Amino acid sequence: MIENYFPSALPIPKLKEFVSEKLSEKNLNQKNTLWATSVCSDEVNQSLHQLDEYFETFGPFILGGISGIPFAGKTGFKAFASHIPDHGGAFIIYGPHVGITQEGEIGKVHRAGQKLNTSSCGSVIGALNTLKSDENSEKPTYDYQQEEVKNLLRNNWAKLSSSDDQIITATEITYTEIKHEIREIITSCISYLEDKPLLAVGGILINTHPSDEDLFDIRDIDWY
Ligand SMILES: [Zn+2]
Repeated sequence: MIENYFPSALPIPKLKEFVSEKLSEKNLNQKNTLWATSVCSDEVNQSLHQLDEYFETFGPFILGGISGIPFAGKTGFKAFASHIPDHGGAFIIYGPHVGITQEGEIGKVHRAGQKLNTSSCGSVIGALNTLKSDENSEKPTYDYQQEEVKNLLRNNWAKLSSSDDQIITATEITYTEIKHEIREIITSCISYLEDKPLLAVGGILINTHPSDEDLFDIRDIDWY
């Protein structure tokens, strides 16, 4: 399944090597680079925090909320930018996540201590299921991040409803939105970097069985 959908996905230790090599192009290293993530809040994505073994700075700054959309927004980015070491730079990794079980089921992950597999990404799949069930219920309160995820999928409903693999399509739609927002936030706040280089790497985080390495399918690499 992983081969079918994400043939070039890298195990997280390989991603770590890739990131350190890429950063070195602009003389950035583990001591002078502050990193940030815009990935879903789900604890399953702590697999990405293996990058912490590389960085000696006190990251990551968390830009993302559920689904991985950068809900911290321009204010969050400006705060992050103001924390970059004086003679260093920054790194942001962003994207949605999707689980794949050992049996090949897309959108599910096995979590240690649980018998049943659960949704991954629960936010994106939850939004998809709510829209499919033709929700006419009253507007939820204290759930503003999920409302945005539902709006995103609602706005792309034509593409989703004709898809043979709605979870993969919803993940791709979420990726496109996260990339768009990250790029807009960075470019509109570029002066806050004070000419310090920033590397942004976007892709899809694939959650596997706890006994296997998670993978990251790199889609976009941009220097600012
Ligand atoms: Zn999630």
